[in-house]
Amino acid sequence: MSKIVVIPGDGIGKEITDSAVEVLKTVDKKFNLNLEYEYHDAGGTAYDKFGVPLPDETLEACKKADAVLFGAVGGNKWDNVKAELRPERAILGLRKGLGLYANLRPVKVVDSLVGNSPLKPELVKGVDLVIVRELVGGIYFGDRCESEIKDGSERAWDLENYSVPEVERITKLAFETAKIRRGKLTSVDKANVLATSRLWRRTVTKVAENFTGVELNHLYVDNCAMQLCVNPKQFDVIVTGNLFGDILSDEAAVIGGSIGLMPSASIGELTSLYEPIHGSAPDIAGQGIANPMGTILSAAMLLRYSLKAEEAAKAIEAAIDKTLADGFRTADIYSDGFKKIGTEQATKEICSRI
Ligand code: NAD
Repeated sequence: MSKIVVIPGDGIGKEITDSAVEVLKTVDKKFNLNLEYEYHDAGGTAYDKFGVPLPDETLEACKKADAVLFGAVGGNKWDNVKAELRPERAILGLRKGLGLYANLRPVKVVDSLVGNSPLKPELVKGVDLVIVRELVGGIYFGDRCESEIKDGSERAWDLENYSVPEVERITKLAFETAKIRRGKLTSVDKANVLATSRLWRRTVTKVAENFTGVELNHLYVDNCAMQLCVNPKQFDVIVTGNLFGDILSDEAAVIGGSIGLMPSASIGELTSLYEPIHGSAPDIAGQGIANPMGTILSAAMLLRYSLKAEEAAKAIEAAIDKTLADGFRTADIYSDGFKKIGTEQATKEICSRI
């Protein structure tokens, strides 16, 4: 038995996690996965009930779970709540509380959606890459100074720092990810300027000695940003630090054409958390029109990385590809000539193709 904690959250969170759980139940029947679900609150919904965005009970349940499926949190309703109690704080609390040190963001452009990308079809057809971003270190977690006077001027600073064990941990995960994919890893840094990047590059090169089957290359972050636009097909797995990963993963996400389709995994020491990259979309919440595919693909990642159920993960991905190839489109990716469907029908179409 594997226990999955489901945190629907706010806005479209309930609709999209309901959909993903239905798909998980369908693959469970086919592959005998023996999955169990336990529901918990986080975000604005938790604030309304308990006065905090991440109740202890939710965090403790996540720690004991084999994996966590997360919808999204936030919304205008909580705009005036104190900063430390805002719904989005739940995400930081989960990252910290569960030690989620790596964020994996795959970008796979399915043939039937090539036209949705802002890039030319010949550049995006066949793109299939994963960005592995370090999530709990670097400049976002370094010392900082909001304001000080030096030489008569006000200034502020943020400190970037990485230790060898931090870089080793994320690099090993990236190599392991590359090993089960096409065996190519690109490490991204700014080693021509930054000391932390030079340590990063040295450490990655050393870890590579233990992964002989994987081809490693290094790119400066400015070049990588450019290469993602001019030749995204060259990439298999990209590994990088927190700041560069934040920026590059959003750049890479738009290549796919719709944020409604993009999944993610945050890998931790205790457990791992899976969620779509989009937010709670309050503008369309409750209308039954949200695209559930990003959440369903996150559930496929959950099966792949936490439960090592590769066949079941592939079955979900293939069912989504087939649903799109058969011309079904939710409103966010709809154009003339296709069959417009809502969240519920999208779920049914996917389940029927598993
Ligand atoms: P958003 O991602 O929620 O929405 C941006 C746009 O994309 C909206 O027009 C929305 O309707 C559309 N969209 C998003 N997901 C969609 C889907 N599955 N199907 C169809 N359309 C979809 O970003 P936002 O509007 O900037 O933020 C809304 C709230 O979500 C804010 O409170 C923000 O803080 C929060 N947020 C939460 C997370 C998270 O929970 N991980 C991430 C980002 C933003």
